[in-house]
Amino acid sequence: MSEKRIGTKCVQGGYTPGNGEPRQIPIIQSTTFKYATSEEMGKLFDLEASGYFYSRLQNPTCDTVAAKICELEGGTAAMLTCSGQSANFFAIFNLATAGDHVVASSAIYGGTFNLFAVTMVKMGLEFTFVAPDCSDEELQAAFRPNTKAVFGETIANPALRVLDIERFANAAHDHGVPLIIDNTFATPAHCRPFEWGADIVTHSTTKYMDGHGAAVGGCIVDSGKFDWFAHADKYPGLCTPDESYHGITYAERFGQGGAFITKATAQLMRDLGATPAPQSAFLLNLGLESLHVRMKRHAENGLAVAKFLQSHKNVTWVRFPELEGDVDYELAKKYMPDGTCGVVSFGVKGGRKAAEAFMKQLKVAAIETHVADARTCCLHPASATHRQMNDEQLVAAGVSPDLVRYSCGLEDAQDLIDDLAQALDSLD
Ligand SMILES: *Cc1c(COP(=O)(O)O)cnc(C)c1O
Repeated sequence: MSEKRIGTKCVQGGYTPGNGEPRQIPIIQSTTFKYATSEEMGKLFDLEASGYFYSRLQNPTCDTVAAKICELEGGTAAMLTCSGQSANFFAIFNLATAGDHVVASSAIYGGTFNLFAVTMVKMGLEFTFVAPDCSDEELQAAFRPNTKAVFGETIANPALRVLDIERFANAAHDHGVPLIIDNTFATPAHCRPFEWGADIVTHSTTKYMDGHGAAVGGCIVDSGKFDWFAHADKYPGLCTPDESYHGITYAERFGQGGAFITKATAQLMRDLGATPAPQSAFLLNLGLESLHVRMKRHAENGLAVAKFLQSHKNVTWVRFPELEGDVDYELAKKYMPDGTCGVVSFGVKGGRKAAEAFMKQLKVAAIETHVADARTCCLHPASATHRQMNDEQLVAAGVSPDLVRYSCGLEDAQDLIDDLAQALDSLD
């Protein structure tokens, strides 16, 4: 399928049924799989043969959907996880452990910030956060001898900062480490980070990929481009024998294209069990079939709403990367020429209190701790997703106390604009 375009991959990728087989992907609702002899099953446990034995590690339905996302991103291997949080945790923890260090953009999702700065710090990892538009000197200075990865988001949730992926990839590669990109907001319909030098991509599939608010999920995709053996001293977990798997050296046995995902499955999924449900993978696939069509509409609605907000006197500022004059307009045009996403952020005149009063008046948009859904929703991050951050951290993450995050769904743009207009007018 690699020669097909993105829309065709959305609809048909990952699954090619034979004669008489189901047209829709089968839901393999089974925890376990049968073998005739212990020897045959033993080979699976030793990773000498590939096959299914227990759905905590791998399930055919989940793998089919992972294969579709792998095609969409242009990767060599992929795995689903039960959430975006576990995808980001696994992507980092597969490379870095206690005593290791990671460079991360400061403009990232609040849940990811908490995972890194609180939970993973408790586990003995260290993080240095840099602004996505930091100087080259600041970026270089963030690296240490024990740095194992660089992390950022294509379009940051909720700050909407666009990462200069090429620049961060070059910096990572100068220091012999891979760049991990959380591509949740752009989706491969609008940006494929591997084409710009990223090495590993993660997703919260809960957002646009699912698109209907139906199932929490995540995904990790490997580009297969990072040469682990060239930096073997940094990645002993990939380049030296794994005693918990009979002395297998992942980068040797599974090559550059397969080592990362095989290790994440064999070690992290085995031990931590952030396993997606086959039913959820099926729902995710339904969403993926229309991803390219929906992303176009989300982005069109985003631009229409952003332009309207810009014209309203009770709005102090608007951030949408496709707005001419936006701080990230040039980066958005470069990395996402077909459009970005449907999320717009803006400040309500009068600050925190006015923002809350405004949100109460909305009738089409619902207040939800969610984004990237078919139904328009909005949120005041300072009192919800980002409430664990102090003011300094909020500013570093690009989230001001008056910020409203408005996620345009697939409704008619004019109905969204009419709804916003009446709620903003009510503040007079
Ligand atoms: C929502 C989100 C996550 C976390 O994903 P869950 O599926 O909620 O666990 C991670 N990164 C980004 C950019 C997100 O928007």
